[in-house]
Amino acid sequence: MCFVHCVVKKKLKLIIFDCDSTLSAIEGIDELARARGPQVFAEVEAMTRDAMEGKIPVEEVFARRLDIIRPSRTNVAAVGRLYVEQVEPTVQATIKQLKAAGWTPVILSGGFRQAIEPLAAHLGIARIEAVDLHFDAKGEFVGFDEKFPTTRSGGKPVVVIALKQELKPARTVMVGDGVSDLETKPVVDLFVGFGRYTPRERVRTGAAVFINNLADLPAALTKLGT
Ligand SMILES: [Mg+2]
Repeated sequence: MCFVHCVVKKKLKLIIFDCDSTLSAIEGIDELARARGPQVFAEVEAMTRDAMEGKIPVEEVFARRLDIIRPSRTNVAAVGRLYVEQVEPTVQATIKQLKAAGWTPVILSGGFRQAIEPLAAHLGIARIEAVDLHFDAKGEFVGFDEKFPTTRSGGKPVVVIALKQELKPARTVMVGDGVSDLETKPVVDLFVGFGRYTPRERVRTGAAVFINNLADLPAALTKLGT
């Protein structure tokens, strides 16, 4: 019950970012594969590309790629550093600007939480929705969170809907380069396609707005009339 002391909490505005090839130039899974030699790298990269273009369902490649790579905690930490080194050059300033304008940034990824954490810290993004990897006491790979929605096609909209139910945002925006990101379009107020690293025709034509620099986001958000 709300009486005199009740403060009407201002609704937050949610801006959800894909990670790989959006916040950073790299695809984390491909970099993990690279550490296993050129043959594994080529095999995994082809699977990632086909999944990101929507040619094969994500669930068909997700476990297979990890079974081949079996990344250790050390491998994952190295990729974590790479995400930061290869960060999209305009994003740090853009996140600051968006936060000042009342936006709450979140990372939503089909990649791995432990690999993304350093980039999130670097950018001041408190929340990561991504797949947890499991390691044993020696830091060897033993598995992953198979239940997490982004391990399958159609997973990102499921997480977006859950975030909206939890946070009750006034506005929800998704930014990403992949077909798995475009899948969120029906459940967000604005889908922004991103083409700096891996421009995709399907995303370009499906997106209401398509940008090549994250610095162009604040202008793109004016389409929402906020
Ligand atoms: Mg991506």
